[in-house]
Amino acid sequence: MSARFDLNKALAFRTADPAELADRQNPLLQAHLRQALKTSFYQELFARIGCLPEEINLGNLTSLPLTSRHDVEANPEAFFAVPPEMQADLALTSGSTGAPVLVPYTALDLERLAFNERMNFHGAGVNKNDRFLLCVTLDRCFVAGLAYYTGLVGLGASCIRSGPGQPARQWELIDRLRPSGLVGVPSFLLKMAQWGKRHGYNPGKNGISSLVTIGEPVRRADNSLTPLGRELEEAWHGRVFSSYGATELETAFCECTAAAGGHVHPELMIAEIVDEAGNSVKPGEPGEVVVTPLGVEGFPLVRFRTGDIARLHTSPCRCGWRTARLGAIEGRLAQRLKVKGTTIYPEMIFQALQELPEISCCYLEVRSAYDLSDQIHIVIGMDDPATVELGRISDHLQARLRVKPEITVQARDVVQETMEQSGGRKLKRFFDFRGK
Ligand SMILES: [Zn+2]
Repeated sequence: MSARFDLNKALAFRTADPAELADRQNPLLQAHLRQALKTSFYQELFARIGCLPEEINLGNLTSLPLTSRHDVEANPEAFFAVPPEMQADLALTSGSTGAPVLVPYTALDLERLAFNERMNFHGAGVNKNDRFLLCVTLDRCFVAGLAYYTGLVGLGASCIRSGPGQPARQWELIDRLRPSGLVGVPSFLLKMAQWGKRHGYNPGKNGISSLVTIGEPVRRADNSLTPLGRELEEAWHGRVFSSYGATELETAFCECTAAAGGHVHPELMIAEIVDEAGNSVKPGEPGEVVVTPLGVEGFPLVRFRTGDIARLHTSPCRCGWRTARLGAIEGRLAQRLKVKGTTIYPEMIFQALQELPEISCCYLEVRSAYDLSDQIHIVIGMDDPATVELGRISDHLQARLRVKPEITVQARDVVQETMEQSGGRKLKRFFDFRGK
């Protein structure tokens, strides 16, 4: 293993004061920019703005243009920095907003990613005595599952590569192998607990103390748990940890035991938050997450706009680390809704609906209205649609979000089927018909 990925060195980096941190990060940033210069996209970009990587540091990084998802999707090969023989893993993005993009990882990139997750699990209090049931996809060109696996193995912990779905099989493994932690999508982990209860297992007494989650928010902007996060902790009697990452960025954030946002790992990434014009916002203010990974070999992005909305917290963390933390993902920029002058994100509606136990599942449809307002239609799935109290649901949304969308109720299976139709890795919960 490369000396760069040494746990003790990395821990010292996290407690350094801001000046020392910058001294150590600047050379990493410059090395990353030199690697980016091997791609045709950044060759053109640096030539256009008449700038050399050695002129860029943490202080003037914001002078470089942002790289958008559109840039990457339009020509992914323009971001390849190594020849095909150096590409070790050919990962595909999940394609939630466009066609899946090929992101080649080199052997060093895989080692770097494993180290990233190793630091994430370490921060979440996981150690070599832990045993994790991985209820996430480890194949299908998906990189997150592989990252969790290699990170846990690097930490000396044990892994059970169970994969997603099939609660009965998951419970057989829990019963037999007694894991201390789970990794999975929150709604599935909750479904697993509920299935277990119905079939004579006791999810609260199985020794599972950590639930590392991916894909759906379990925390709000103020770091409190969402209804889904709370239900998960209650069902399993364990602690929920929110993690966030992107295949293109080769970077992942995870909460530490202080549960105050996902730590930025200083040798692996620089995170910024920008407004709509691309200008930096003040710490603690919401905006679009922009990340520059450091030390990536195969697909080195610079100031990549994730399209996700969150806040960056820069005060020292209660866990003792002084690095910044990325708050909960509050929504996706492309899914921003304008309702009579108010900005809301679908996620806010989903979280408000999670507070109503009778709703099993739901999705949103949005269309353009004549008054420049977005027209929201919520389709709710219930086990017994005849028992619906539409007025109560509508009042609840009005109280929480000050919106009164149209609501339709259908049988749970029908709604579930619509959400599964998209064929992606995730259930589709947002159908955007604006401008169509
Ligand atoms: Zn912390």
